[in-house]
Amino acid sequence: MINNVGIAPRQIAETCSHDTPDDIAQLSRALLTGLSGTARIVADYETALATTYGVRHVIAVSSGAAAVAAALSGVNWRSGDEVIVAPTCPICTVLPILSLGLRPVFCDVAADSFGLDETDLRSCIGERTCAVVEVPMWGYPNRPDRTRALLPGTRIPLIQDLAHAHLTRLNETWLPHYSEISCFSTHDCKFISTGEGGFVMTDDDARAERIRGYTRFGNLTGESVGINLKLGGLQAALGLARSRRLVPHLDARLRNRERLLTRLVNPAFRELPIAPGGMPNGYALLLQAVGHDGRRLVDYQRGHGIPSDIGKYDNRPLYELPLLAAYRRTCPNAANLLRSLTTVPLHPDLGDDELDYIARVLNDYVPA
Ligand SMILES: *Cc1c(COP(=O)(O)O)cnc(C)c1O
Repeated sequence: MINNVGIAPRQIAETCSHDTPDDIAQLSRALLTGLSGTARIVADYETALATTYGVRHVIAVSSGAAAVAAALSGVNWRSGDEVIVAPTCPICTVLPILSLGLRPVFCDVAADSFGLDETDLRSCIGERTCAVVEVPMWGYPNRPDRTRALLPGTRIPLIQDLAHAHLTRLNETWLPHYSEISCFSTHDCKFISTGEGGFVMTDDDARAERIRGYTRFGNLTGESVGINLKLGGLQAALGLARSRRLVPHLDARLRNRERLLTRLVNPAFRELPIAPGGMPNGYALLLQAVGHDGRRLVDYQRGHGIPSDIGKYDNRPLYELPLLAAYRRTCPNAANLLRSLTTVPLHPDLGDDELDYIARVLNDYVPA
């Protein structure tokens, strides 16, 4: 079958396999040395991540959602306190906030960015604000340095949900260094995979102790609340094998990004502007439709077998969802941004022929 632009259609895979040659060896080691969340291999995985990122503490947890909840356990709050977050993030970030009895306050993003708008952030901060959560989407850095500077002292900590942004940099610095606490997901569809899993990072010794305690039933002392959010040994074994190949994995994604960008010449879209000093991680290529509704581009690309995350979630500001309607705050930049975008896969399993197919399809796009 030949489609309307005369290119034989293909189906591009949404994610990659993540397998490494060391997976089986580390899984075998886990079988020999312990499978619980307090097993040696979990600590080794945490140390490997701490070394890669140059942070003091990593706490491995059972999911990205667990990582958001655990990150919030490192913050002082009372029930009903407010967490400022952009309505452009996945609902996965907001549900853990709700589940703790906290209230999301939706702050608009700056134009053409997933970073919080400075003016709107000022008007969102109040007496009950206990934390700000920034979510750099699809691996593109926000400006956490600017957001941090707007927060009063350390009373309101900045948390970054970096589920999409493993190894994303700003001014040659890994993003976790810009916030008090960061959380990550290692779900199978994320940058690196342990099947299910996540981790939290902080340089603050006291916060790290609280977070770790929270993930272990409050260390069973009966003095503080906690549940069991620990990552198991088998997942940690995969994490350890794969964390040692994070940088080559990043390089493969960045190479794919370069290959696509040098071939895309269609003025109907552009790459989303990158924050000055920022270096995306190649989690996905974010394209922004110029002068028309981005859903046309999403539909076109999906019609040619190129998956788009935006297509999957029909991205709308979160306050349009029934569960979150009570937290509605009009965020025009957020709504416009989500309606202008599509994502294109860049994962390491893509061959050059597939990248060139993607480029040809996108170059043939006419908004009509
Ligand atoms: C995927 C994701 C989560 C949830 O991670 P899970 O591992 O699926 O629980 C949280 N926040 C963001 C930004 C995500 O992309």
